[in-house]
Amino acid sequence: MPLEPLPPTEDGESLARRDFLKVSAALAATLPAGLGASTPASRQTPLVDGDRLNAILDVFRRYGGGDDDGTTRLAYSDEDIAARAYAASVMESAGLRVSVDLAGNLIGRRPGADPAALPIIIGSHLDSVPDGGSYDGQVGCAAAFEVALTLHHHEVELRHPLEVVVFQNEEGGKTGSRALVGRVEPHEFDIVTASGFTIRDGINRLGGDAARLDEARREPGSMAGFLELHIEQGAVLEAAGTQIGVVEGIVGIRRWNITVLGAQNHAGTTPMPQRRDALVAAADLIRAVNEVATTMEGRQVATVGRIEAVPGAPNVVPGEVRATLEVRDLEMDKIGQIFSEIVAHAREIESAREVSIEFDPFYESLAAPTAPAFRDMLERAAADLGYSTLRMPSGAGHDAQSMAELGPVGMIFVPSRDGISHSPREYTAPDDITRGANVLLRAVLALNAAG
Ligand SMILES: [Zn+2]
Repeated sequence: MPLEPLPPTEDGESLARRDFLKVSAALAATLPAGLGASTPASRQTPLVDGDRLNAILDVFRRYGGGDDDGTTRLAYSDEDIAARAYAASVMESAGLRVSVDLAGNLIGRRPGADPAALPIIIGSHLDSVPDGGSYDGQVGCAAAFEVALTLHHHEVELRHPLEVVVFQNEEGGKTGSRALVGRVEPHEFDIVTASGFTIRDGINRLGGDAARLDEARREPGSMAGFLELHIEQGAVLEAAGTQIGVVEGIVGIRRWNITVLGAQNHAGTTPMPQRRDALVAAADLIRAVNEVATTMEGRQVATVGRIEAVPGAPNVVPGEVRATLEVRDLEMDKIGQIFSEIVAHAREIESAREVSIEFDPFYESLAAPTAPAFRDMLERAAADLGYSTLRMPSGAGHDAQSMAELGPVGMIFVPSRDGISHSPREYTAPDDITRGANVLLRAVLALNAAG
């Protein structure tokens, strides 16, 4: 399927073409003598070219990058389309056959020696949140491209086909990866995304075909595995002084609406002992939620993120409070257990404060554990390279979560400075990015050798 053409620059040369030449020149400059295209594959496991990898990441910044080091590259925007055109040119320089699937995902394919072998899939996303960072998603894409470039220039033949995927609209709801597992609902087509385009128009703008989205669906068992490198977006690795995070899975999420009912009354004439203050009861509950999640063993998190007192006047004892509860953990059973404890506390608060507390579930996202064999594989890959590792859950959603429905997935995290993400202050050091890409490359080779 054709890609959207890029607007020509003053000298008539497209941005993608110029960037392609820049990366090609960087490539030629960084290849050690004797490792040119005609040299037979090295018997040693190759390493990625960190300069080339970080140069690719720098070029992404031209598409929506701001003066504050941040990036606004909303899914389906002109910047998104331009960045994907550049990405396609990099993929081509890695010898990949580039296409856009019916869901608008950008895909580069490399054949394997064994026509019966299932594809190994690597990739991430290029779209950002408004006023976002220049690393979220983009690091994973640049690293996947760099893995393909390294395999290409070292003439490494894989038994498995390799697919490098740039998923579309990750930030707006993982539309591209969910389409691959048939999880995009018809009503979503009319959702207006941050760029102003509906999902339907967006898919079509990227070269997909929203009317035929069903055909983009892939079958469970149709891949050998999916591997995604991503910035941590938290501060666990940095705090531990660890180089590589081996992700145990993407946490499940459950959310409830909470209603606390007390008695609305005059704030001047109602003596303290006679009050049935819904907001005071809610305050007890918020403390209880925090204590349950903090004292229980494990890495679960629980949050009351929204609260509203009714009627919400300075001179009225609140008769009703509406709030939300969110609990996340790698195991759905654990989320249930945490919720039960919170409810037990709520029952005590009800009798102590003479109120009623109700929980009404309104959202659930199932946990997506990574494949245990892939965790071991990533740990071994990192150990071979001399990098320190830490096993950890991912508190944020990722495309790997969708891909887990198709087969085994693995995820690699690299440190985020100060744990900041979805902000122009998001930053990951070039050496950390290079280390992550080397682990990704080793894992691809290990998966390829595994069968
Ligand atoms: Zn991301």
